[in-house]
Amino acid sequence: MENLVTIRDLAVRFYTYEGVVHAIDDLDLDIRQGETLGIVGETGSGKSMTALAILRLIPYPGRIESGSIVFFDRDGGGELELLTLSEGRMRSIRGNKISMVFQEPGSALNPVYTIGDQISEVFLLHRRQELGHRAKQRVESLLSDGSGLADSVRRPFWRWQRRLYNKIAQKSHPVEPRLLSHIPLFRRLLWRLQDEASLLTVNMLKDVEIPDPARVAVHYPHELSGGMKQRAVIAMALACSPKLLIADEPTTSLDVTIQAQMLELFRRIKADTGASVLFITHNLGVAAEVCDRVAVMYAGRLCEIAGVEEIFLHPSHPYTKALLDAVPMPGKELQTIPGALADALNPPPGCRFHPRCPSATPMCQQERARLKEVAKDHMVACHLC
Ligand code: SF4
Repeated sequence: MENLVTIRDLAVRFYTYEGVVHAIDDLDLDIRQGETLGIVGETGSGKSMTALAILRLIPYPGRIESGSIVFFDRDGGGELELLTLSEGRMRSIRGNKISMVFQEPGSALNPVYTIGDQISEVFLLHRRQELGHRAKQRVESLLSDGSGLADSVRRPFWRWQRRLYNKIAQKSHPVEPRLLSHIPLFRRLLWRLQDEASLLTVNMLKDVEIPDPARVAVHYPHELSGGMKQRAVIAMALACSPKLLIADEPTTSLDVTIQAQMLELFRRIKADTGASVLFITHNLGVAAEVCDRVAVMYAGRLCEIAGVEEIFLHPSHPYTKALLDAVPMPGKELQTIPGALADALNPPPGCRFHPRCPSATPMCQQERARLKEVAKDHMVACHLC
């Protein structure tokens, strides 16, 4: 399977008054076309930072120190090095080719706009040409249909509109609908585009299985349940048919029955759209349900990566084994991982897991273990493997 995203030697640091936080250290990771790659690990292991680095949205005072993130856009731009793209180009990729579903849908939605307005915004921003085409087709059908033209005086005006939509549909034309909307004569232009965006929005809400989508589109976020809000956020993320959908703990804030529905929705989306999904979770059960491959991260480094069955049946890294042992099971005493996550301000030398590892050797305290293949498509970073 070909790669969609290739991350090499990625390092993310936060420059704080207390010192330099090593959030991600020399990360190598591939996301393949059409797969669901899960990233698991404790809080603070660098899962979300990896996702934000792909979108170049690392918050201040963090920065991407070094490395490379290549996005293979086979339908358009070709091979794109995301870390060196201009901010304008990056904005055209975010929400369009790569989109993200955040953990807390309540904070991902703007409380003062309706759900429909927020999803339409994505269409108006990234799919304006398509809206222009659709609006032009609508006007053309009115022109050819004599019944809709009771007032022949309006014909020239509609012809003029058709020409304008035609120009919007041309990628290079600088017509800015929002600017024109301030001129009363042109306001109709924006209304027509908004009408088209609203139709696409209702279809999108229907696609994510929201009942009565036309009614929900005019609701504000506070009027929806947690599950409905998360579906609306997923609809927004899918509006432009992204090549990569990043889901950052999308089920954590939902109750168990809604979680199951969301996982089913993610499975269906992947099957229907063929998009790759980067699924971030700390819940191994969820990873087992939806992922094709699973990457385990600890203290900003990748410990192990393998196919979902391989990693659950034959875990090799002591941290992966400890995580699996810590999964609560009926009739089994609850296991914990002794110690605390490595301090990112002063990470331990050598293998960062060595202060908590039951198998640590003197070499583990001095030398970092590099990823090596222990079985087909199964990589582990441990001196004992
Ligand atoms: Fe444990 Fe050493 Fe392997 Fe690290 S390298 S996981 S400390 S055995």
